[in-house]
Amino acid sequence: LLFGIITTVKIRIAENAGFCYGVKRAIKIADEALKKNEIIYSLGPIIHNPQVVGEYEKKGLKVVETIDEAKNAVLIRSHGIPPQVYEQISEKNLECIDATCPFVKEAQDYAKQLYEEGYFVVIVGDQNHPEVKAHIAYANYKAQVINSIQEAKNIEAQKIGVISQTTQSMDNFVSIVSEFVKKAKEIRIFNTICDATEKRQESAKELAKNSDLMIVIGGKNSANTRKLYEICLNFCKKVYHIETKEELKKEWFEGVENVGITAGASTPSWLIEDVIKAIEKIENDIY
Ligand code: SF4
Repeated sequence: LLFGIITTVKIRIAENAGFCYGVKRAIKIADEALKKNEIIYSLGPIIHNPQVVGEYEKKGLKVVETIDEAKNAVLIRSHGIPPQVYEQISEKNLECIDATCPFVKEAQDYAKQLYEEGYFVVIVGDQNHPEVKAHIAYANYKAQVINSIQEAKNIEAQKIGVISQTTQSMDNFVSIVSEFVKKAKEIRIFNTICDATEKRQESAKELAKNSDLMIVIGGKNSANTRKLYEICLNFCKKVYHIETKEELKKEWFEGVENVGITAGASTPSWLIEDVIKAIEKIENDIY
């Protein structure tokens, strides 16, 4: 844990907080590309954080929903895209700046391989998430997305190939796979869960256990940030989910000795630092 000591209050930041490898890499790729292009079109917001999306909009990264709206260069975010969208990009002669996370890419390759080898492809995940939508496309739109044991019970195939959305929980993945072991003749499993999410959740939990107040920083639309907030609520009485320092309230800090801070995978370090400075100022006002 990192320590930042101020008069009477101890502020600690969770060991694994903020940007994951794939998001850091996507931001770096966007920065490099913006040096060469005045405007780039991002297919969907680069990350689920309105402050970062706003900052990048000013730098020339415009969010679009379809390739038709894009000109010159298109940025593919860490979640990846279906193979057909790469074809559209090339048909329109657009430069493709590909920031698909390598771990996501690996899962896409496995989805394709399982389909080609004749497996009934099962993806454990959320069917509305853009990463999963791309995995389905790599399995030639023949995959079934499930998220519970009940849904696993309803699958009747004898030759099942399983992958997971990279951010799913390991416990759920294991229970679903165990269900298949009971009924299928042949199962091929690719564990495509990325450990960034698990590590972030574990360190938030440890910190929440030893804090009087937990501040969770990240987009209100970020699923992984909301999950961190829920986890912290189980271990700490006072937990607040904020996007920026402006949401901090002085009364939260009265009588508090240990403040813990964590942040979602799409929260940049400058936002975390802003919040720490604002807390230090509030504390100095109180004491
Ligand atoms: Fe890549 Fe893992 Fe981050 Fe997803 S959570 S973008 S798989 S590093």
